[in-house]
Amino acid sequence: MDAPEVLQIETTNRCNIACSFCPHKNMTREQGVMEQAMFESVVKQASDMGIATCYPILGGEPFMDKDYSARVKHILSTTDMSVCTYSNLGIPLKKTDAENLQGSGVVCSFTDQANPVTRIKNIEMLKMFHVPVVIHAIEDYQAHAYELSYRVNVTYKICGKYNWAGQIPSDMPFRDGICMRAPQTICVLWDGRVSLCCLDMDGDVILGDLNTQSMGDIWEGEKAIYYRTHTKSSHAFCKSCNMQLLGEE
Ligand code: SF4
Ligand code: SF4
Repeated sequence: MDAPEVLQIETTNRCNIACSFCPHKNMTREQGVMEQAMFESVVKQASDMGIATCYPILGGEPFMDKDYSARVKHILSTTDMSVCTYSNLGIPLKKTDAENLQGSGVVCSFTDQANPVTRIKNIEMLKMFHVPVVIHAIEDYQAHAYELSYRVNVTYKICGKYNWAGQIPSDMPFRDGICMRAPQTICVLWDGRVSLCCLDMDGDVILGDLNTQSMGDIWEGEKAIYYRTHTKSSHAFCKSCNMQLLGEE
């Protein structure tokens, strides 16, 4: 069985804001920060499996973890994985954060909930330390994202507004088929459990637990294989999800 291409690791599921397009505000699972020993074990196992890309974020704002930038530096300095993180950039970053992020990239998830002054200061500091920044926004925020990108001179991209497996209203069409997420990505929650995908905000579908199993065993387990080889409509959690299919843009 092919290894996943991407590791998504949630160092924390806490968030500083409540975006309209995100079900984080309805999260019922416990909120916390990943233990450093678990973090290092996850990163090593992913690297040993040959995973090429790491997104150190899942269900939360990563800079709510005070050790976040040091953890990004750990990934960059101990593995060959490329690292790209997502943040609303509404929490003030320190120079050491920008230094630690050198070698990674930052996607600024645009939202009207994040402090706009702090966001601009953060982007300018990241640029000063040669950390590439791209702004991502859903269509509702296109004009604001354009304005910000012009002001700070970085590119922006408009993204689809998915329904988070039926949790958020969305006009995007549903198409049945094999989803692109499950076969490509392994998602580790802050407590060491492995969830189905980044849209599974509450960890409703747990594929295994790294507190007691290896990443390889979870990836090759019956449950994980089922989700990545069956069409969306064949399992309850995904049957109304309008995320893209394998191969779609
Ligand atoms: S999109 Fe990100 S910043 Fe916004 S509520 Fe969700 S986790 Fe928080
Ligand atoms: S169909 Fe949606 S919920 Fe299911 S694995 Fe894909 S992205 Fe996740």
